[in-house]
Amino acid sequence: MVQDWDPDEHVAPELQVALMRRAVDRRDAIRERCGACQRTPLVGERVYFDHAGAVFCELCRALDPDPALGSRIVHGPEFGHTMRLTDHRAA
Ligand SMILES: [Zn+2]
Repeated sequence: MVQDWDPDEHVAPELQVALMRRAVDRRDAIRERCGACQRTPLVGERVYFDHAGAVFCELCRALDPDPALGSRIVHGPEFGHTMRLTDHRAA
């Protein structure tokens, strides 16, 4: 039986963790939201992330007193599957 994946139903917890890990690994390839304001960053916008992998937009980053682990530019989905650009410099 094939169903669309629903993270809240029909999935064993350990599988959810595995899927979540995979989603985090592929986070450059998926649409993501700011962890604070839930806004989806615009393509070309710089986003910041902390050690937990949480993503913050430019505006929310400015309000966060903790230094971000890094930042990167949001790419459109056409780049996500073939390119992985990371910027490990301190913000
Ligand atoms: Zn935000």
